[in-house]
Amino acid sequence: MVILFTYAIISYQEDNFINDKSSKQPTILTSFCYNTHMQNITILGATGSIGTQTLSVIDRHSEQFSVFALSAMHNADLLFHQCQQFKPRYAVIGEHHYAELKERFANAKLSTILLTGKQALNDIASDSRVHQVVAAIVGGAGLPSIHAAVQAGKKVLLANKESLVMTGQLLLEATKKYGASILPLDSEHNALFQCLPAAQGFREKSLNQAGVSKLLLTGSGGPFRETPIAELVNKTPDEACLHPNWSMGRKISVDSATMMNKGLEYIEAKLLFNANDDELDVIIHPQSIIHSLVQYRDGTSLAQIGHSDMRVPIAYALSYPKRINSGVSDIDLSQHTLTFEPVDYQRYPCLKLAIEVANNNYLTTQMNAANEVAVAAFLSKKIGFTKIYEAVAHCVEQSENLSCANSIEEILAIDTQAREITQQWITQHQ
Ligand code: NAD
Ligand code: MG
Repeated sequence: MVILFTYAIISYQEDNFINDKSSKQPTILTSFCYNTHMQNITILGATGSIGTQTLSVIDRHSEQFSVFALSAMHNADLLFHQCQQFKPRYAVIGEHHYAELKERFANAKLSTILLTGKQALNDIASDSRVHQVVAAIVGGAGLPSIHAAVQAGKKVLLANKESLVMTGQLLLEATKKYGASILPLDSEHNALFQCLPAAQGFREKSLNQAGVSKLLLTGSGGPFRETPIAELVNKTPDEACLHPNWSMGRKISVDSATMMNKGLEYIEAKLLFNANDDELDVIIHPQSIIHSLVQYRDGTSLAQIGHSDMRVPIAYALSYPKRINSGVSDIDLSQHTLTFEPVDYQRYPCLKLAIEVANNNYLTTQMNAANEVAVAAFLSKKIGFTKIYEAVAHCVEQSENLSCANSIEEILAIDTQAREITQQWITQHQ
């Protein structure tokens, strides 16, 4: 594992009002002393794979991290138990479950204040008492609360890659403008962040200035890496979600099977690290032990190596630049064989498409929205596995406008239209 010796100062000011935009917000400076304050954390998407693993890391370090707010869409039962254990000040639940959960909170005499609605997500992401926001809602639904956190100057631990794929440049510009920072939770980007010089990790230098020749994203190839291509058409949602190395939510698991996930990650890496087309590549590494590599001009490659366990990047981002115990053991490399192979783009047309459209946020937004709709249709057995690509390609082909989108409103309109186009295509092809 590569260790970087740079440290952060986090300054903040407490107050008592949720969403008080007038109060002083935290700023993160890449400087030289350890942060010693108790960190208040909001977890958006607390009941999901990333959310629960974040709570497991926090649970080991209750002297450093305090849970300020948790959110969930549907899993009211798990959210209730999380609130009992971590006693956050606020919890946000999807509207359908609000009344029932509110009664449960009252019966259990929980002091957590229960909220619902999209504005509530923005509020818990931007509250002036919060230091770190874990963005772990799945899909474009996570976008508004991430922007709210950035505009409030927060340290955002970003798992929700879809928001970056949709509004990347705008989000990064806002990060600079409001003194926020984004630390990637996605294992590949977290690995790159760990292997890059710190200033480049925060986009203060170009890759070229940092002596980097290439960022190499690794991908396992998913559960169908060796399946004859002709058989992919019959693959079921449960088979697609059976990832060989990672345990994840169902949407990202399907994205891993099509390798659209790597496509989204390619776009994410481009934006986060300011990489041009020649500075970024993907390689298949079936064992998921090397989580990505940075290749330097002098012939050095730095890789981040470890078990396939998201608690590692989560712990690193939570405590950056310190290292804390994530609960994950050291890896015994004598027990593993590492292999690599080039990407077969015939097998993974979604990845090819994502690389082709990566430089245009009009198209990346369309592709992402179409993919969300198509994956949902596949998971509910309305279309077959190979139709996911067909649906997404159909939507992207409809584009007449090839200029980039310049505002969030424009991007949300593109997103809505792409969802409608894809839904129509699915109705005709299911
Ligand atoms: P998940 O499906 O397990 O959890 C999603 C969470 O978001 C849940 O808490 C759910 O209640 C909430 N949610 C869902 N729809 C919502 C909506 N419309 N509004 C508000 N909340 C909603 O997903 P996950 O696997 O934890 O992935 C979360 C994000 O992290 C995704 O963007 C994914 O690409 C990214 N990510 C996940 C992993 C992983 O290992 N799971 C790794 C890298 C990146
Ligand atoms: Mg990843």
